[in-house]
Amino acid sequence: MIYLDGFEDQRQAELFAHRESSGSFGIEEMADLCIEGLSVCEGHCPSRSLVGQDRCQCVRARFECLEDYQFYENGRKQAVVMIATNALSMFGEDYEDGD
Ligand SMILES: [Zn+2]
Repeated sequence: MIYLDGFEDQRQAELFAHRESSGSFGIEEMADLCIEGLSVCEGHCPSRSLVGQDRCQCVRARFECLEDYQFYENGRKQAVVMIATNALSMFGEDYEDGD
């Protein structure tokens, strides 16, 4: 990924944070993302150091605006809890089945 200069990066981060969501994310697409998880900022990210993790270049490449990203982040937190709960209950069933 080609890194923008810092000024342009900050300008785009600002636009990203204030843009309104057009709702282009379908709810199913968003649900899939939340369940699978999304890795942004792998390794060193100069953009993240400058403008922050929630609006760095990698996040901006995946999301239309900060609102969409925050929507994803909240959904992801809930999905993680849900997945963990399911995993635990499956473990519980295995345990009960064993003799
Ligand atoms: Zn990044």
